[in-house]
Amino acid sequence: MLEVQNVTFHYNTQEASTPPALRNINLRIQPGETVAIIGHNGSGKSTLTRLLAAILHPTQGEVRVDDISTTARGEDLWTIRQRVGVIFQNPDDQLVANTVIDDIAFGPENLGLPRHEIEERVQEALSSLELGASAQLPISDLSVGQKQQVAIAGVLAMRPRYLLLDEPTTMLPGHLVRSLLATEQRLARERGMAVIHITHFMHEVTAFQRVLVMHQGEILLDGSPSEIFSHADQLETLGLDVPMVTRLGERLRARGWQHLSDVILTPEQLKADLCSSNSSN
Ligand code: ADP
Ligand code: MG
Repeated sequence: MLEVQNVTFHYNTQEASTPPALRNINLRIQPGETVAIIGHNGSGKSTLTRLLAAILHPTQGEVRVDDISTTARGEDLWTIRQRVGVIFQNPDDQLVANTVIDDIAFGPENLGLPRHEIEERVQEALSSLELGASAQLPISDLSVGQKQQVAIAGVLAMRPRYLLLDEPTTMLPGHLVRSLLATEQRLARERGMAVIHITHFMHEVTAFQRVLVMHQGEILLDGSPSEIFSHADQLETLGLDVPMVTRLGERLRARGWQHLSDVILTPEQLKADLCSSNSSN
């Protein structure tokens, strides 16, 4: 389990008078949970990611990964590094090797795994991210989007227990966004991996079991997508939107389509609701 207890965090480089980047955060994430985090720029999402990954330590409070404090050292810190995989906003921050295949193999090699296991993991990661044809390419020839694909594949090949993705889809083309979201859900279901996915795109959020809304360093809302998007007005005051299909559902209800569910999350749900209300009219 990932556990954040009464955590406040202030960057050393921040002026003492400025508010902390995170304030009094309490959070528990179980293995197998899928969690999306939304919130406008500066709300503390990346800072929370760095604390969960033991890259930064709380100013106050404690962060624990499977009961190990992130302030641990030696063996314990190594265990945390193996269990928590992070994909950062900028792929250049995490690519280390010269070619695609070497970069993806780098993590599993560092885990000291046997050769055949490394190969199996690399092949699986290459195919999950549709990188098979690019395996031998030099990293320096790739676009930013392709670099992000390689960074994601490299972390997946480590098979972490907790996977943190900080705005991973900003630079990916649409078809890869859909396949990444499907891969995340599958890994949670089949391997019990917990997935924490930060995004600006509301339609991505509906794929997750749980959504956290951050604002000024705090977690303001924590619930299922339908719970979160039933607070459309509050989200609007925070400068956040609800998915387009949710808004459309609201408008139709306001115009007399009372049979529609309170909160519509997907086009498929809207279609099903419209068909069933048609047949009952
Ligand atoms: P988000 O990822 O939601 O955009 P961040 O976690 O990056 O938010 O930022 C939270 C707050 O911390 C902001 O006020 C930001 O200016 C500040 N901050 C982020 N990174 C640093 C840093 N390296 N040094 C000082 N302040 C930072
Ligand atoms: Mg950020």
